[in-house]
Amino acid sequence: MNLPIYMDGHSTTRVDPRVVEAMLPFFGEHYGNAASRHHRFGWQARDAVADARASVAKLIGAAARELVFTSGATESNNLALKGVAEASRDRGNHVVTVETEHRAVLDPCARLERQGLRVSYLPVRADGLVTPASLEAALAPETVLVSVMLANNEIGVVQPIADLARVARSRGVPMHTDAAQAAGFVAIDVGAAGVDLLSLTAHKLYGPKGVGALFVRRGVAVAPLMDGGGHEAGLRSGTLNVPAIVGFGRAADICREEMAEEAVRLRGLRDRLWEKLQRSLGGVTVNGSMASRLPHNLNVSVEGVNGEQLLTGLSDVAVSSGAACSSVRQESSHVLRALGVDEALARASIRFGLGRFNTEAEVDRVADALCSLVERLRAPAPVFEVDDEDLPAEWR
Ligand SMILES: *Cc1c(COP(=O)(O)O)cnc(C)c1O
Repeated sequence: MNLPIYMDGHSTTRVDPRVVEAMLPFFGEHYGNAASRHHRFGWQARDAVADARASVAKLIGAAARELVFTSGATESNNLALKGVAEASRDRGNHVVTVETEHRAVLDPCARLERQGLRVSYLPVRADGLVTPASLEAALAPETVLVSVMLANNEIGVVQPIADLARVARSRGVPMHTDAAQAAGFVAIDVGAAGVDLLSLTAHKLYGPKGVGALFVRRGVAVAPLMDGGGHEAGLRSGTLNVPAIVGFGRAADICREEMAEEAVRLRGLRDRLWEKLQRSLGGVTVNGSMASRLPHNLNVSVEGVNGEQLLTGLSDVAVSSGAACSSVRQESSHVLRALGVDEALARASIRFGLGRFNTEAEVDRVADALCSLVERLRAPAPVFEVDDEDLPAEWR
């Protein structure tokens, strides 16, 4: 068994070797610029990008022409939020999102607020889910966009996106969803979900880092963030990263083909981990809905231990904790706080992100390691009884 064991799949995933293999020729012999129209190098690159676009589109039930390649989900979210806000300036100045969104949605929203837009942040229930009624109540005549993530990157809960989109669209408001965590793990159909914009990133689904996409439904007005050569139908100028896009396409194909079977396997591993922790440890709770959840996510809080010691003690396991994406920051997770989890329990939380390359033996090893660590941390500190008479006078 290779140590440390990687169970941090919500941060990033290993590039599948089949994806690497598909990418390699596009660093070597096929190095053309997809925008070069007058020679074979350009045509090969253009055709490869077209194939990849079709593959990624198929993963979410979109048409290839509705996808804009970007550098990842952060850029896709920025393009959706700022691009729609700018393009609909004459229609309104209000955006609705959710307290538990990724920083790649919250921070662009904060900038929009500094520029004078109003942003409403929907609360979530204790299970992490948004209710259609709360969205209904937040909509206003001047609302130009609703943005609700499909699956949360910390607690893995899957929002009732079709129900929420129905509410938004019944009021004529376009719906954006950040699907960075959901894509490749649960079936997505942009038609059935009723979403108008959807963000993707390759590195969460066994593709390379630095490439993603934004689905933009035909007819939805978006202003570009980047001006230049007019690539990607003018929505994202800049020479396309052909090897990465080819890898993204291959990664999407593999996910589409293997998703149904892989979800069953991952759910089995996740449930095995959860059952072992429950059986061996008292005072362990799961954060977020277990029913509406990604198959490969587990986020637990452990009572009676110090969060810092919990993470540093698990040296052979790569996982994240309470502060998840912003581990540099000292504050506890804004997601767990939005669920009403208390500060100590939020800090003493662990996020497991299982993946394609994890085995049952690894799950057992991780469960054992965590259980013995928690027992050690919970054991009362030894007390040394000292007779006063034995102490030097100044210590008595
Ligand atoms: C990882 C992630 C992002 C950021 O994606 P990048 O491709 O790293 O920019 C945005 N949103 C969610 C929900 C994520 O999990």
